[in-house]
Amino acid sequence: MTSNTPACEIGLIGLGTMGRNLALNIADHGFAVAVYNRTADKTREFMAEVVGKPIAAAYDLGEFSRRLKKPRAVLLLVAAGPPVDAMITELQPYLEPGDLIIDAGNSHFRDTDRRGQELAAASLLYMGLGVSGGEAGARFGPSLMPGGPPAGYQRVEPILRAVAAKVRGEPCVAYLGTGSAGHYVKMVHNGIEYGLMQLIAETYDLLKNGLGLENADLHQVYTRWHQAELASYLVEITAQIMKIRDAQTGGWLLDVIVDRAGEKGTGIWTSQEALALRVPIPTIDAAVSQRALSGLREERSAASAVLPGPPARPADQPENFIAKVKNALLAGMFITFAQGLALLRRASRHYGYQVDLAQVARIWRGGCIIRAAILDDIRTAYGRDPELANLLLAPNLRPGLLAIHPDLRTVVAAAVLAGIPVPGLAASLSYFDAYRRAWLPANLIQAQRDYFGAHTYERLDASGRFHTDWQKLASQDQ
Ligand code: NDP
Repeated sequence: MTSNTPACEIGLIGLGTMGRNLALNIADHGFAVAVYNRTADKTREFMAEVVGKPIAAAYDLGEFSRRLKKPRAVLLLVAAGPPVDAMITELQPYLEPGDLIIDAGNSHFRDTDRRGQELAAASLLYMGLGVSGGEAGARFGPSLMPGGPPAGYQRVEPILRAVAAKVRGEPCVAYLGTGSAGHYVKMVHNGIEYGLMQLIAETYDLLKNGLGLENADLHQVYTRWHQAELASYLVEITAQIMKIRDAQTGGWLLDVIVDRAGEKGTGIWTSQEALALRVPIPTIDAAVSQRALSGLREERSAASAVLPGPPARPADQPENFIAKVKNALLAGMFITFAQGLALLRRASRHYGYQVDLAQVARIWRGGCIIRAAILDDIRTAYGRDPELANLLLAPNLRPGLLAIHPDLRTVVAAAVLAGIPVPGLAASLSYFDAYRRAWLPANLIQAQRDYFGAHTYERLDASGRFHTDWQKLASQDQ
């Protein structure tokens, strides 16, 4: 595009991995897009690759602003945190009341609320847009999780619907609510992603070290799983990872990768937020902790020499055990979604987002990292009962879970006896067992708290709060 080209429908700042691909995706759908990047060389490089597409480069923010149709809409795809604030501060002088800024990075939802309020005071609209699907998603169809002022969403809805992934013709985008709803949903998405990845990693450990399967066998197993109820992006890529050879050694690439997982913090945010709202998400918490444990590589290595465990061999026929591990993973995945969506349900009420959980399940079915066949049933569950307290109770899902949960129990028990750590599967099972129990031993915790701290307790047979001088009664009894 030249400087004479008509004004662009949208502007995009940040030509990193996500920004470049999203700009191309937007342009391929016929929307003219103006791009700007802090480092001008990257813009020049990008423009050399996109000749003929409706993409206009700007090398300063004044030029960028002039290239946009009014009221302007600007997508930010810069690194999360202070760079977003810095970019907004730089951009603001070139904007006018009614213009819209959309932060499409992984911002913390509290930052999104703060920025939205600050910009509203300057009569600017601000939206938080969760984007999932990585590089390929951004290029060919991500799952998009927008939140913020409805007027802002309506303005960019045609573009977002066009660029989003499509599942049976439906775009994986829906307006999720006011304020930081979009970034909140994206945060929970990432928490669920942590949980699912941990569960799959545990099945890999069980099949590799418990059953002694080779990577080629594992490729077959995960491929088979992906062809049935476990169909999901993460199981699919796991199958593919198993068959990749290392160019240097000729062996399996996976086997030369260090067993220490990194993270950018969004899983921790989910756990922190769930703790703050008192919503149990133990599978996701376990996944976060297990990444931290993977980081203690030197300590683990030293400990392995002095803390022996049992031989890592679950006692079962291999094919039987593989079938049980498959069901255990399916149950664990389902329970992880139940936890994440329970958090979203509570948060939606707490923060007033009014998130429609059926829509969330719908837009997670395509484009994003946690896309999975079971989301169709999850969507149906919330579609039939938007007030569903917990997915475990959904009439369309409950029978299936009840049928497979014994395998989750068997697999966790086998793993425990074989000394194979399965914190994600075990946390999923305990969540299920605790949720389905009418009675939990929390009466003892009430009594203990009252004993040492006079925190009082409630009784089953009377209303109100009670206190007992436990120490006095105990000493009288001696
Ligand atoms: P990259 O690291 O590839 O690119 C970062 C971009 O941010 C670059 O354009 C960089 O500009 C710009 N930037 C960094 N600091 C500043 C600053 N202080 N002022 C102005 N611009 C700055 O990041 P990604 O494209 O991967 O990620 C962008 C956002 O999208 C992040 O919030 C990320 O968490 C999120 N995201 C990423 C996904 C992924 O798979 N990569 C998936 C979903 C969301 P410069 O070239 O000048 O350095």
